[in-house]
Order: sequence, then structure tokens, then C-alpha cells
Amino acid sequence: MERKFCQSCGMPMDSEELYGTNADGGKNPDYCKYCYEKGAFTFHGSMEEMIEICVPPMVNANPDMTADKARAMMKEFYPTLKRWKNA
Ligand SMILES: [Zn+2]
Repeated sequence: MERKFCQSCGMPMDSEELYGTNADGGKNPDYCKYCYEKGAFTFHGSMEEMIEICVPPMVNANPDMTADKARAMMKEFYPTLKRWKNA
């Protein structure tokens, strides 16, 4: 099975439990439950703002990664995600 990443925050979604929800209550496999709830994005800022929010948890999850490194990685990765592609 192909590994799915949230197309908004880039979080790996290894379980359907992490999928976002559509307005009709169904699962949305493109986005995680933290980004997409009942058919709407929970975060409405820019890609840069999203990156700043995601730096601390990323550094927590990867103790040998610096905040600068995490930020640089996300700046490369985010523009490939569906939500930010045309931003
Ligand atoms: Zn997400």
C-alpha cells in the first residue's frame, strides 16, 4: 500500500483513523483529521504560517533535527502537496 501524506500539512497517515472528514461524515483520504473536518479546512492561513505551526511538532518527533532544518524541508515539501500546489 502506498504511504499517504496529508495534502495540507504533510503528516504521514498510516491509518484511516487519521483521515479528515467530509461534510457528509465520510472519510477524506487526502487530508488528515487535524487539517480537514466536516468538509472544511481547520486552518486558513498561508503555507508559510502552516510551516511555522508544524516546525515544533516536527522537531519534537525528530530530536536530531533543528528547527531550521525542519523548516527548510517543509519549504521544499509543501509546494508538492495538493493544497499548496497553486499557491
Ligand atoms: Zn494535515
